Amino acid sequence: MRLTLLGTGDARQVPVYGCECPACGLARSDESLRRRPCSALIECGDQRWLIDSGLPDLTERFPPRSFNGIFQTHYHADHAQGLLHLRWGQGLVIPVHGPADPEGLSDLYKHPGILDFSRPFAEFETRQFGELSVTALPLQHSKLTLGYLLEGEGRRIAYLTDTVGLPPATLAWLQREPLDVLVLDCSMPPQPQAPRNHNDLTLALQSIEETGAQRGVLTHVGHTLDAWLLEHRCELPRHVTVGWDGRII
Ligand SMILES: [Zn+2]
Ligand SMILES: [Zn+2]
Ligand SMILES: [Zn+2]
Repeated sequence: MRLTLLGTGDARQVPVYGCECPACGLARSDESLRRRPCSALIECGDQRWLIDSGLPDLTERFPPRSFNGIFQTHYHADHAQGLLHLRWGQGLVIPVHGPADPEGLSDLYKHPGILDFSRPFAEFETRQFGELSVTALPLQHSKLTLGYLLEGEGRRIAYLTDTVGLPPATLAWLQREPLDVLVLDCSMPPQPQAPRNHNDLTLALQSIEETGAQRGVLTHVGHTLDAWLLEHRCELPRHVTVGWDGRII
């Protein structure tokens, strides 16, 4: 099983348009430090699925029939805007399995084009796709959001964004068996007050600890966290790393 982080940025991405902070400055001069909309590609056996669809160039990156479909975490624009282009394709159908969000994004449900939204995941539902098993786990966010537990080829990876902390039932589900890797929302450096909608580093480390994951990988990283890490990277625990676009897990 192979998970590729396609994008690791928050809704603003890095560099933030117009921002002159050190992290945005560095990302402007070094392509490898850029952070695109948060998304990933999971490959297991003959299965190849996108997790989220916020990249604006999906049609160029993924030719027709080069992937099976999309596991959608939620319908905020930074996670779903690529669907607005993808839908106008022809000659194929792309299943989009996500939460049963009555609104979706923009007019996607009204004009789905080649996208098939007909089989949303129920919370804690497990589906089998060839050798890949996928379980939808509810998260805590400002919109109905699912994380995904990916199991196959003897590995167990959880991909959980966007969230602030973890609902107790989701945490209990993850604690049933050892987790190899937890890819987790960490949008901000430690905040003086409890954050809303997204993890700061304090909450993210706490969740990694509670799940007992062998490795933690931070994603949905905002520029303030990147700037903070320029001075504090050595303070991260050894089993926790910061994700980068293109990184393979
Ligand atoms: Zn987001
Ligand atoms: Zn900045
Ligand atoms: Zn969101």
